[in-house]
Amino acid sequence: MIKILRLGHRRGRDDRISTHVGLTARQWGADRIIFSGESDDSMIESQRDIVGRWGGSTEIEYREDWKKVVKDFEGLKVHLTMYGLRIDEEIGGLKERFEEDDLLVIVGAEKVPRWVYTHVDFNISVGNQPHSEIAALAVFLDRIQDDGIRQDFEGAEIFVRPSEDRKLTEKK
Ligand code: SAM
Repeated sequence: MIKILRLGHRRGRDDRISTHVGLTARQWGADRIIFSGESDDSMIESQRDIVGRWGGSTEIEYREDWKKVVKDFEGLKVHLTMYGLRIDEEIGGLKERFEEDDLLVIVGAEKVPRWVYTHVDFNISVGNQPHSEIAALAVFLDRIQDDGIRQDFEGAEIFVRPSEDRKLTEKK
């Protein structure tokens, strides 16, 4: 089971990036995506809408008390940060843990409180340079799983027919 916690959403300013965190997490098999920060029903609803049309069972929710999400999670807790230990050096051990345990991956927006660094099992960097929560999440979820990219989403109303030279979609 994979859970994602996205900290510090700012309504208006982060709509697009938060939506892309959700869609990326879904593409790599996240079962549940939890947003915290400012409550934003329209951002949450639009993601549920996408899941409804494109299928799968990823659950999307908002939780104000994100510390409780971290404290209550039983399993492997990983915070992605440019200041963390290098993914290349830690991924072997993380994969072994993930075979046994559920996984919680935490990504931030702006500054992440120090509390997070001390309440997770691992602080992991995808390169020690600043970039983006979307990129960090995609690379991490891809590395920790063998076949990370999901192809089939149950219950989809619409799906893509892969094409060499055009946009092809079909509806059920
Ligand atoms: N200086 C910030 C920090 O604390 O990492 C960068 C904020 S960045 C705009 C938003 C989020 O992207 C971070 O909270 C982290 O989850 C993720 N991120 C950015 N660069 C990363 C990197 N090199 N490795 C892992 N995660 C990264």
